[in-house]
Amino acid sequence: MSKENSYPDNFIRYIGTGGGRFSMIRQQRGTGGIWIGCRGLSGIIDPGPGSLAHICAANPTLLSDELDFVMLTHKHVDHSTDANVLIECMTQGGFEKKGTIIAPSDALFGDDRVIMEYSQRRAERIHIPRDGSVIDIGNGLAAEAVEHLHHGVECYGYIFRAPGVPEWGMISDSRMLPSFAQRYKNCEFISMNVTFPDRKKHLDHISIEEAKELLSQLNAKNAVFTHLGAMMTSPEGRHFLEDLDTERTDVTAARDGMVVDLETHEISFCGENFPASAPWQR
Ligand SMILES: [Zn+2]
Repeated sequence: MSKENSYPDNFIRYIGTGGGRFSMIRQQRGTGGIWIGCRGLSGIIDPGPGSLAHICAANPTLLSDELDFVMLTHKHVDHSTDANVLIECMTQGGFEKKGTIIAPSDALFGDDRVIMEYSQRRAERIHIPRDGSVIDIGNGLAAEAVEHLHHGVECYGYIFRAPGVPEWGMISDSRMLPSFAQRYKNCEFISMNVTFPDRKKHLDHISIEEAKELLSQLNAKNAVFTHLGAMMTSPEGRHFLEDLDTERTDVTAARDGMVVDLETHEISFCGENFPASAPWQR
């Protein structure tokens, strides 16, 4: 990590980089989502199984009770199982009405909701993304929702804008959509959920092959592929994650604990004190 063992001013840290059911079941990679530290705010996107444990173990320290927002792209279990516990962290054990939840409507309402009503009542604000809506997260940080297509659930990617931070985007689980080339064209950095090496027509997931095609139409200088399926993270499949650069874009395969500086796009790797030892245990 950097000289003084701290995070850049504006950064993301990959808490977990596994994707798909077998990567999750075997915990070949963590499934804790992405931590964002930006404009003095802290947020978590898609906190799947193990997210809180890995946040508490993170080195340098991340403080779960200083979260300002909890954001879901969609409600599948590998993206959402720790959402309620992280809302509990954000709201100081539910004692303080605080923070923002950003989640699609089917994650919040209906019989199959994944964010409990109890948790929803604890947050100060709830935003429900719609395609093209711009969510004001606070301190100048805004997120534009981009509609995805993903196995019958509502799913959104986001484009983040903040003063002093180059525009960046995240593409979540989705069938590759023609609209992405237009919507993400101004992003200088993109984090993409890339689950398989080759395209699979019957599945609403992006492959390495399709991700590279998309990057050839965008202007991103740097990209990270994450949410990596078991086929690519097993020892026999690791070669799929080598030589990913395209003509325009430097591409890095994500690893758990990887940090991206959102201003310079410099990448570094951080450790964990595992088993989890949060600062108050040390
Ligand atoms: Zn999914």
